[in-house]
Amino acid sequence: MSQGLGRLITDLGDRSTYDAASQCSRCGYCEQACPTYVATGRESQSGRGRNQLVRLMLEGKLSDLGAAEEALSTCLLCGACTTACYAHVPTADIVLEGRRALAEKPPWLVRVLTWLLVGHRDALSLLLKSSYLLKRAGLSRLARPFLRLAGFDGLAEADAHVDETPSRFLFEELGRRKRPAEPRWLYFAPCGPNYLYPRVGLATVSALESTRGPGAFLDNGCCGLLPYNYGEVEDARCLARAVIEKSEKSGAGLPVVADCSSCTAFLKSYPQLFLEEPAWRARAERFAESVQDAVEAFSGADIEPSTSAETVTYHESCRACHGQGLPAPAQLLSRACGDKFTELPESSVCCGGAGAFSFVHPELSDEVLKRKIGAVARTRASLVLTSSTSCLIQLAHGLKKYYPQGRVMHLSEFVAKRLSQGKPEHHGTTTGA
Ligand code: SF4
Ligand code: SF4
Repeated sequence: MSQGLGRLITDLGDRSTYDAASQCSRCGYCEQACPTYVATGRESQSGRGRNQLVRLMLEGKLSDLGAAEEALSTCLLCGACTTACYAHVPTADIVLEGRRALAEKPPWLVRVLTWLLVGHRDALSLLLKSSYLLKRAGLSRLARPFLRLAGFDGLAEADAHVDETPSRFLFEELGRRKRPAEPRWLYFAPCGPNYLYPRVGLATVSALESTRGPGAFLDNGCCGLLPYNYGEVEDARCLARAVIEKSEKSGAGLPVVADCSSCTAFLKSYPQLFLEEPAWRARAERFAESVQDAVEAFSGADIEPSTSAETVTYHESCRACHGQGLPAPAQLLSRACGDKFTELPESSVCCGGAGAFSFVHPELSDEVLKRKIGAVARTRASLVLTSSTSCLIQLAHGLKKYYPQGRVMHLSEFVAKRLSQGKPEHHGTTTGA
């Protein structure tokens, strides 16, 4: 059994995982909000079904562990069920506790990645740059059938989904900039912008400089979401402590802005990691209060209306709307685009990306994705904006496959581009803190 949290923060206060799962009254209000239930029609693949499975498992009454493993592994952890639930039962966290109770130990790939993320950034960079070189040379595509034959389907799917291969990482770029005397904000670089989409992080920093003045790069490591979702909680705690310490040294009290909503939601949930450690819990609470998602940071940005002919729509990352309770920046986009902004039907329904979900469960992920791209196609938008790495990968893949006239962009890129239009060229002041 992998190590779990044991206790969760619920609307009724801190509760054991069993008590949290028992808060589900089985009313079923969450069923139609659950993308996997809607796609499959199976009770075991709904919020209600998953909560009951975990409760039975913890009571020792579950005989079919294989069925439980399937039901829990196919949860997108999107949190739509919690939003729909009058009691706000934290189903995604309960599912993760159930997965940890079932797993002997985390998958080897997660253990290797966690080892690289905890203090071995040079080795991680070398590994990623080597794999990007192979991809650019077309060799990874040739290797896909062999990866599948060897049982590494997830790696083959990841290679098929990810198109970008940056030659420089974000921390390499931001780390050499000069630190301003009095930074007004800190930038936390999530792993997605850091290692896959540096352009997103550069856009966030540029937009923050335009709207708030100078700031500093935190030069952080991973937030811990990967080991939290797929591995050991203690590894996640270790990474969380490092991030908290770094932010305290770099500028306690300054807002910490991050531009992947999955990571931002996790940064805000740090107190739950330290329910048994009061001193760390207090530090985690102070830190969590300082964290801002790029969606919050830019919702009030002063963008001039544009005459662009491009029709724009917005997909809400699950971890922005369900994980953090953030509304879509509809007013910002209406102001910026006028009648060229069209609200996306079901904008808060998951796109099926969900971290590694689309690589591990490609068929179910594609069912969820098709519904999302169908909604985009009905708006006739040519540009879809969003706020998390997983959504960027999944929507780029889905648009290419089902609606090639559309493209996807991070909200920060859109804001930075519009803020820079008509302004003199700006030289950044952000630096490693
Ligand atoms: S999770 Fe909430 S909405 Fe869903 S069945 Fe349980 S109590 Fe009802
Ligand atoms: S987190 Fe999402 S996929 Fe999982 S049970 Fe809730 S609504 Fe369904």
